[in-house]
Amino acid sequence: LAQTKDPVLARRLLDRVKDLAERFIARHGRPAAIMEVCGSHTHALAETGVKDALRGAVRLISGPGCPVCVTDQAEIDAMIALAEGQGRIIATFGDMLRVPGSRGSLMKAKVEKGADVRVVYSPSDAVRIAAEHPDREVIFLGVGFETTIPILAAAVAEAEALGLRNFSLWMSTNLVEPVMRHLLESGEVRIDGFLLPGHVATVIGRQGFLFLAEEYRKPGVIAGFEVNELLSSLYLLLELLLAGRAEVLNNYPSVVREDGNPAARRLMERYFVPVDQPWREMGIIPQSGMDFREAYARFDAKRKFPVRVGKPKPTACRCGEVIRGLIEPDACPLFGRACTPEHAIGPCMVSSEGACAAHYKYLRA
Ligand code: SF4
Repeated sequence: LAQTKDPVLARRLLDRVKDLAERFIARHGRPAAIMEVCGSHTHALAETGVKDALRGAVRLISGPGCPVCVTDQAEIDAMIALAEGQGRIIATFGDMLRVPGSRGSLMKAKVEKGADVRVVYSPSDAVRIAAEHPDREVIFLGVGFETTIPILAAAVAEAEALGLRNFSLWMSTNLVEPVMRHLLESGEVRIDGFLLPGHVATVIGRQGFLFLAEEYRKPGVIAGFEVNELLSSLYLLLELLLAGRAEVLNNYPSVVREDGNPAARRLMERYFVPVDQPWREMGIIPQSGMDFREAYARFDAKRKFPVRVGKPKPTACRCGEVIRGLIEPDACPLFGRACTPEHAIGPCMVSSEGACAAHYKYLRA
């Protein structure tokens, strides 16, 4: 296990988790199948050694929680085509630059075609660039879940207050609840319970996950990201599973409130409404993303700069199966051979939150 402020507690927690995991196996004849619905958890479970330490005892399944990985390939292609348009400044988070499209990447557009693509730390930086370049169109690629959407809304509020006409957002956002429902209803993968995303929970609260217990009879535990927070959450989840209790527990109370952050939700709802959203290899999931309200269409890059791209070129990348929990990264024949972090073929290897990148870095045999 990784270094922790309390290694004695970590060891005790690990023993207890293993103990409950064995009781689950004895009862069901198989390990408990627990999905983490958060790219940061995928990374943390691998980096801290928790996933490795529980190999064979608990089946930890990576879910669709890495925003770059779940973005539909046609969307990625459209963003690259958008960047190639004359006179535009494209601002984005660093991970997006190397995501392969059907015909290149944003990085390739920048280096080979002279596209003005800039990495920024927040959408607000893009607003600042727009204010500094009133003669240029500045477009921020808004990719992310509920943790990011309020930040996108705040950037629009800033651009609105500054009266900017040359700032827009290309919205390609994702909501956690619809995709979790989609996974559970598809029945493609067995999931006994969920390790719930601490970051998204800061916005939607414990109450945002109650549907799991109430409608699907599945338990979930909202978890932090440190070794002992992960282990104690797995312990609580196994306890719920063994007791047959479908409940949602908040094991990250220092950060997550029962009702989350209503002010952040109000901000995102002021500018955006839920829309049907395409997900990588999952098709369109109803009401699973957010896009502009009609009243703010002037900030909508998709309306300002309509882009046409053909059907994405098929590749051998199996990222679509990885994000649905159907295969482990090393089941992809390209893993560690043709596809490595230096020469990534799919977004799950490009993104720092991607399951393939985490597996390559920490869990490779
Ligand atoms: Fe795609 Fe690479 Fe992961 Fe294979 S290893 S699924 S090619 S990202």
